[in-house]
Amino acid sequence: MNKNLIKEFINIAGAEYVLYEEVDRQAYSYDAAVLTPQIPALVVMPATQEQLGKTVKLAYKNSLPITVRGAGTNLSGAVIPSSAESVVILTNRLNRIIEINEQDLYAVVEPGVITSVFAEAVSTHGLFYPPDPGSQTVSTLGGNVALNAGGLRGLKYGVTKDYLMGIEFFDYNGDLIKTGSRTVKCVTGYNLGGLMLSSEGTLGVFSQIILKLVPPPKASKAMMAVYDDINKASETVAAIIAAHIIPCTLEILDKKCLKYVEAYTKAGLPTEADAILLIEVDGNHLQGVEEDAEKVMELCKKCGATNIKVAKDEDEKHKIWEARRNALPALARARPTTVLEDATVPRSKVPAMVAAVNRIAKKYNLEIGTFGHAGDGNLHPTILCDRRDKEEFKRVEAAVDEIFDTALNLQGTLSGEHGIGMAKAKWMEKETNRATIEFSKNLRRALDPKYLFNAGKKIL
Ligand SMILES: Cc1cc2nc3c(=O)[nH]c(=O)nc-3n(C[C@H](O)[C@H](O)[C@H](O)COP(=O)(O)OP(=O)(O)OC[C@H]3O[C@@H](n4cnc5c(N)ncnc54)[C@H](O)[C@@H]3O)c2cc1C
Repeated sequence: MNKNLIKEFINIAGAEYVLYEEVDRQAYSYDAAVLTPQIPALVVMPATQEQLGKTVKLAYKNSLPITVRGAGTNLSGAVIPSSAESVVILTNRLNRIIEINEQDLYAVVEPGVITSVFAEAVSTHGLFYPPDPGSQTVSTLGGNVALNAGGLRGLKYGVTKDYLMGIEFFDYNGDLIKTGSRTVKCVTGYNLGGLMLSSEGTLGVFSQIILKLVPPPKASKAMMAVYDDINKASETVAAIIAAHIIPCTLEILDKKCLKYVEAYTKAGLPTEADAILLIEVDGNHLQGVEEDAEKVMELCKKCGATNIKVAKDEDEKHKIWEARRNALPALARARPTTVLEDATVPRSKVPAMVAAVNRIAKKYNLEIGTFGHAGDGNLHPTILCDRRDKEEFKRVEAAVDEIFDTALNLQGTLSGEHGIGMAKAKWMEKETNRATIEFSKNLRRALDPKYLFNAGKKIL
């Protein structure tokens, strides 16, 4: 990049916070998706709203592609720079929790705040921020909003979308746009927050976010149900939902996951089982929680659970729940390449989806471990492979196609929470239609006339 231009970025963010040497830029060329990396031309780390706005304006004015990056944990290639001319805007210094309002139950944050740091800060005020992606100890709230992240508590408490009250973002001119408010209700103007949610860095750059907080539940009960047949586990999921019980957590791990997760975490998981369900019910009244837990245990038994282990305290639950959060890193140790998918189906179709994934694994002779937020119908079939083995990777690609086709045939969706990014953009029309793609393109053109915000992601 032209030296004078680099100097202009340095004038905005400071010399230490503009990376132009290749060795420093390399770390920003990839994310958690299995895709070809792209080293950007420059990495800029603004620390204030003013610096952020000026960075966006300068990059756009000079027609430089812009990729905003939080922690880079997304699994869809959403922060792989578009080209060698790209500027990566890193939000790690925009990490202030500006306000936690105990009276009106909201918080105002900058986009680079780490999700679990925020949840912890909120809990010291006696409040609760439920969205808890498996990556919460590193992911940022900006990344969570831009991908509408879910988590283990999504079934009962919803996902990031359910907590977004307002957002401020910079448009391509570097002008600050404000939408939403600190009030529970707000219908002023268009719902631009809704537009920014899941926007994957393609429409603007968030500078401040207002999030809803809730009181924490007063009682909870967690358990692990063990199965000798994964179909019985997935039938339990459908049965619990059909019985109108909404646990806060309802997660599944299959045999392959159990093997790798136990080897990695030593949490005491039953590796001889074909699958387990991790279930937690919560609420404000212990009696009601106990009743729900009893009903859930009955349903587990009825559907064929061979054992049900109730966590005796928070520590015991935490150990198992942490093991679940480590499913992806545990699987990633098995083979050089881990292709994690995000196919999501209506809850009643979970048994059909689980059976289809197992059939697809056999058909293509691949090792696929499945875990995920079963209660949301959101499964993560994870293919363990080696990308360097061209023949094997062809089979992987065919299997992924078939997983998506199956999910769509079951009235599901390409992505429950990981986003479209580069990885799934080519399938978008399959789930929607041509008119939807054109409508989205027109919208994007209006908000990003030079097509510089995260080009190549979401809509091709
Ligand atoms: C081990 C592991 C477990 C995971 N578990 C879950 C899970 O349970 N649930 C789930 O939903 N996801 C999960 N993920 C995926 C990922 O962690 C989430 O999508 C998370 O929200 C990404 O946050 P991030 O800060 O890493 O964002 P990044 O990966 O840096 O960016 C994600 C997107 O957000 C955009 N973005 C970031 N900041 C801004 C901003 N200020 N303005 C505009 N756009 C912005 C980026 O351009 C990009 O499009 C997991 C990932 C891993 C590796």
